Amino acid sequence: KAKEDGRNCFRYFTKSLQERAQVRIDLESDIRRALHNQEFELFFQPRVSTKTLQIVGAEALIRWRHPLRGLIMPSEFIPLCEETNMINQLGDWVLEVAIERQVSWRRKGYPLSISANLSPRQLRSRDVIAKLAAVMERTGCAPGDIELEITESTIMESGQGPDGIISQLKNLGVRLAIDDFGTGYSNLAYLQNFPISCLKIDRSFIAELTRNDAIAEFIISMCRLMDIHVVAEGVETLEQLNWLRARGCQEFQGHYFGSAVPAAEFERLLELQHALPKETAIPVADCQ
Ligand code: C2E
Ligand code: MG
Ligand code: MG
Ligand code: MG
Repeated sequence: KAKEDGRNCFRYFTKSLQERAQVRIDLESDIRRALHNQEFELFFQPRVSTKTLQIVGAEALIRWRHPLRGLIMPSEFIPLCEETNMINQLGDWVLEVAIERQVSWRRKGYPLSISANLSPRQLRSRDVIAKLAAVMERTGCAPGDIELEITESTIMESGQGPDGIISQLKNLGVRLAIDDFGTGYSNLAYLQNFPISCLKIDRSFIAELTRNDAIAEFIISMCRLMDIHVVAEGVETLEQLNWLRARGCQEFQGHYFGSAVPAAEFERLLELQHALPKETAIPVADCQ
């Protein structure tokens, strides 16, 4: 098997530039067609309170239901979209659908915070503010119920100062989260300069908690000192959850509670949670 993979790898890297350019062009036109045919779908992953184990929100994660290739994960098409302007069109669609879901769930009695990922290119396009404002207005969404996730490096690259895009987003009233925290260049000073309300610890630090917990511990204490809401990504075990609870990390996402699922399935989770008495949430002490 390893031999086979090696060969495939070799083949890929020996592909001529022209061949690779062709793959790109094919994918680009495939994505345009997919947008037109509505093959993209948002999945939702629960964001859960470590204290109450209640769902307090969800992260919108894009999927591509390809008619021939089946379900395609974002890692297979988002990077290419980010290199071209296609990410703007796709990103606009993501924001619109995420906001519509927030409003629809609020109307059904589930007041959730919905988060969506923003690409560097979207932040550089000036009209993202106007578009967001228009969708908020049309749907009646409260901007404070929407959180936009931006990676560290993207924040560093983006316009600073009072006219910068980050300030404009803040003025609109949406909340900003730093995604994959700890994996980028950490000029920690920016945490003070940017109006950030939430920080998401990258899942690589959660995965290695049993071997080395220094970085996660440091991030959580820093967030407490700076009054920043902290979320752990990629929580897969009860052991990891208990470690986070003991240190006051407020929220988590991860396969331990639930992975990203289609909107209808996520809504069933909400209904189920609503139907259960609150006391059924597992108290901290019983988890140990
Ligand atoms: P992200 O924003 O850091 O999203 C978290 C990723 O971790 C998701 O992968 C999620 O499914 C996965 N994950 C969640 N819990 C666990 C866990 O317990 N264990 C493990 N191993 N993984 C977990 P996904 O959905 O494949 O998305 C990958 C990345 O693609 C996202 O990372 C984000 O950077 C990007 N992405 C996804 N949707 C969008 C979008 O609509 N727009 C943009 N610009 N980027 C997106
Ligand atoms: Mg994210
Ligand atoms: Mg992340
Ligand atoms: Mg990521």
